[in-house]
Amino acid sequence: MEEFTIAPLTGPLVLRAALLTTGFFAVLFVGAMVLPGPKREGFPQPNGDRKTYRLTGLSSFLGTNAAAAVWLATGHSLSDLLRHFWSYFVVANVVAVLITAWLFVVGRRRRAASSGTTEEDAWWKDLWFGPELNPTLFGVDLKMFMYQPSLIGLWLMNVAFVSAQLETYGAVSIQMWIYQAFVWAYLFTHYVREDFMLSTWDIIAERFGFMLVWGDLVYVPFLYSLCGWWVLDAGWTDGVYESPPIYTLVALVLFHLLSHWVFRGSNWQKDRFKRDPSAPIWGKPPETLNGRLLISGFWGIGRKINYTGEIGVYLSFALCAGFEAPWPYVLPATLVVLLTQRAGRDDRKCRKKYGALWAQYCQKARFRIIPFVY
Ligand code: NDP
Repeated sequence: MEEFTIAPLTGPLVLRAALLTTGFFAVLFVGAMVLPGPKREGFPQPNGDRKTYRLTGLSSFLGTNAAAAVWLATGHSLSDLLRHFWSYFVVANVVAVLITAWLFVVGRRRRAASSGTTEEDAWWKDLWFGPELNPTLFGVDLKMFMYQPSLIGLWLMNVAFVSAQLETYGAVSIQMWIYQAFVWAYLFTHYVREDFMLSTWDIIAERFGFMLVWGDLVYVPFLYSLCGWWVLDAGWTDGVYESPPIYTLVALVLFHLLSHWVFRGSNWQKDRFKRDPSAPIWGKPPETLNGRLLISGFWGIGRKINYTGEIGVYLSFALCAGFEAPWPYVLPATLVVLLTQRAGRDDRKCRKKYGALWAQYCQKARFRIIPFVY
């Protein structure tokens, strides 16, 4: 048994990572231009415009699955992504900065040309949030596209842990298989209903700048795969693996399924309601406040129950690593912080938009994320 080690940063390794990352990016981008996918109309943006999107994420994800399967089945490995973690991390940060700079320059120029004025937002706002809402390149919406390197990159980083475990211990543990299944299912249910993303705040209202670009290219693939580092060694002592008791594994799978169902189910329920306010919820006509706010199904239980489900999903990833180290739990903990402040912001926005109706809703669904606590 040879301990898995991460290579130090060197110029040639960073250059190699830059070439591979650029290739990966280019393949995904060409895929977004040519792969098949349904066309969907976006929700009205703050100025009332609606954009049409071709959703190629599922084709890209399944295509990458097929390519990775062939790569692994022919005796190759993906552990390179982990061995050269720091090189890829540096490159992803540089790419995020370069894309931000490009968005800043091109977006400001385009905005000045379309408005016919030279009036500009503060430069730091244009860098952080971005100058434009929905920049497009060669017919590809860049904000929607950036979820591909982000999430498919996250998936590849995770699969790399299978290769790393095989190379280190000569076998793949049950905890690793369960972890892989959870992450794959999370991404698959994302891509099967990629159109749901069109109704999210990020797509409708958030401009595209460093905040989202860095989140997509660095935060998601590198931080969201954090648990894998501890699943890699979980249960192994001197090259011998001891599985947790079967009832713990069954409880873990059930917890994941429940959280996943709450997470996707609630998001899909609200999305369906926004598209068709009369669509049944759990087989019954929807209950609403003035036809504007859904108060049945998941949305009659908690005002941010979709966040509750997502935190549960990430907790299930961390639980795959067991309790030998606290670090895997940093991931669900960061999500608690991120989503709690987002829930507070959204609550204020909705209170302003819906007024008395929102107060009525708060009486019906009394908590945001955690029952009786928040
Ligand atoms: P939501 O999907 O929760 O959308 C909030 C909006 O939905 C509100 O502003 C309001 O908008 C509308 N709304 C709220 N309650 C109701 C109701 N009862 N009936 C009808 N409409 C309602 O927020 P996000 O866009 O922030 O999140 C989408 C998903 O993305 C979530 O599942 C979240 O967990 C996930 N996410 C994940 C992140 C991550 O890093 N992993 C980061 C951010 C989000 P309106 O004015 O249109 O009515």
